[in-house]
Amino acid sequence: MKFVVTAGPTREFIDPVRFLSNPSTGRMGFAVACAARAAGHEVTLIAGPVALKTPPGVRRVDVVSARDMLRAVRTVIARADVLVMTAAVADWRPARRAARKLKKAEMSDTLKLVRNPDILKTINRLVGSPRRGDRILVRIGFAAETGAPAAEAVRKCREKGLDLVVGNDVTSRGSGFGTTTNRVTFVTPDGHVQRLPLMSKFAVARRIVSFAEVATQRKGAGA
Ligand code: C5P
Repeated sequence: MKFVVTAGPTREFIDPVRFLSNPSTGRMGFAVACAARAAGHEVTLIAGPVALKTPPGVRRVDVVSARDMLRAVRTVIARADVLVMTAAVADWRPARRAARKLKKAEMSDTLKLVRNPDILKTINRLVGSPRRGDRILVRIGFAAETGAPAAEAVRKCREKGLDLVVGNDVTSRGSGFGTTTNRVTFVTPDGHVQRLPLMSKFAVARRIVSFAEVATQRKGAGA
């Protein structure tokens, strides 16, 4: 199968030396890419700015902003079977990007922001389009929350047309940004919630890949 995995943060530049971003290190997405490759799949990893080595056998595309990431996903999605959106995409970007460094005196105390496109929602519009034919696309998203993730994940699953949402409370110990372990909850659109124990990000990644394999077969069989 062909996997497209996104990972890491995006950067939204204000001027050449300042940007808006988040603490994502890309570890979870790189683990998914590695686990999918280890299971024999073809993997394209679309990575925001991160300091991680490309897993062997994985094709990597580096991007910076949310709009770059959307373009990169659109380029490869027509041939994909599975999309795993692990990236922590910035929801907003500055309304204007200055071509040169802004002097402090030129900056105001407020920054005008505009919404970034939602990559999953944009890709959903392509699913079932002539570009993809009858090809099945299993879609998996993440929900990084700072409270109980399950309820929010069910909503996200339905709203974004996902087959699985992996919810994690980024404030809980050993879970979230920059850790090597994760405590996650698998939520499916039928409202089924499966809480997994604290485990390595690679073990979580293996579970995600297995879910995608089963879901692809089930959807392909028309179930
Ligand atoms: O709504 P929220 O940003 O919490 O949803 C998280 C999921 O949506 C993640 O899988 C993330 O990669 C994806 N996402 C996206 N496009 C955005 C923001 C988030 O596809 N602009």
